[in-house]
Amino acid sequence: MKPAPLVYQRPSTIDEACRLLATGGYVKVVAGGQSLMPLLNFRLATPDVLVDLRDVAGLVGIEVTDTAVTVGAMTTQRALERDRAALAACPLLGLALPHVGHTTTRNRGTVGGTIAHSDPAAELPCVLACLDGEAVVVGLDGTRLVSAADLFVAYLTSSLGDDEILTAVRFPVLGAGWHFGFGEVAQRHGDYAMAIVALAVRLEDGSVVEARVAAGAVSDRPIRLTMVEAAIVAGVPPNELRSLAAESVDPPDSPHAPSAYRRSLVGTLVVRALAEALA
Ligand code: FAD
Repeated sequence: MKPAPLVYQRPSTIDEACRLLATGGYVKVVAGGQSLMPLLNFRLATPDVLVDLRDVAGLVGIEVTDTAVTVGAMTTQRALERDRAALAACPLLGLALPHVGHTTTRNRGTVGGTIAHSDPAAELPCVLACLDGEAVVVGLDGTRLVSAADLFVAYLTSSLGDDEILTAVRFPVLGAGWHFGFGEVAQRHGDYAMAIVALAVRLEDGSVVEARVAAGAVSDRPIRLTMVEAAIVAGVPPNELRSLAAESVDPPDSPHAPSAYRRSLVGTLVVRALAEALA
């Protein structure tokens, strides 16, 4: 199928793009199109106006500082995957990105698009939640920073306003002493996951003194497993940690994987990701 008739706009500035979004009616932004275009083609989304961000200045680029890796919204997932400085500063990105779809989709899919799309089974939202990252959002009322916890509000739903565009994503650089683990289970590599775990632990004298654990694909948004984080710092043994992690999520049944199976996946993925981080 093909998209329903629409007006195609290609603004060159953020302000122009935000004004187009604010004109009312059903207006959608398109970035890499790797999620939106299938929705348009199946007429699951039928916007009147499509605002293409590809010509908007200032949305591509990767900045690495001591405190954050800041990625322009229209930067492709593949460009981030190949940026050695970014992956050295934020190793969790290097662990997660190869699981995002396929090389071909990462060549066009953007970092801003995957965050704005807010699919709970997407890897980068889970990483952003684990790191307590944030999005830079611009609208006609100005610019604001939105934390991951405030950005992802429901299935495929972010807290972006109708006239707002996500212009950059900030992945915090946690710095020395932090170690990372990531795991997911999908039916095939490149499929959306049935369960994702992103983990970061800070070690002092060989002991875990701080932990961050986020789970994806088990709720309507990425979720932080705070009880699991406390258990890791308390040094709970692996079998107990596995059970605790499995009990800390309540995923819906899905055609591919019943809830109980996905719970057990989270338990196993937490233990494996911790072992990876400690190794
Ligand atoms: P688009 O598809 O252009 O847009 C997605 C949504 O975000 C739309 O609603 C759009 O309006 C909105 N949007 C985009 N950019 C902005 C912005 N800057 N500001 C505000 N709103 C914006 N993704 C995964 O994470 N994991 C996977 O395993 C995975 N597997 C895939 C397999 C296949 C075969 C395909 C085709 C895609 C897969 N994807 C997967 C999706 C892919 O990563 C998409 O690129 C991503 O979900 C959306 O990025 P995009 O740039 O393509 O956004």
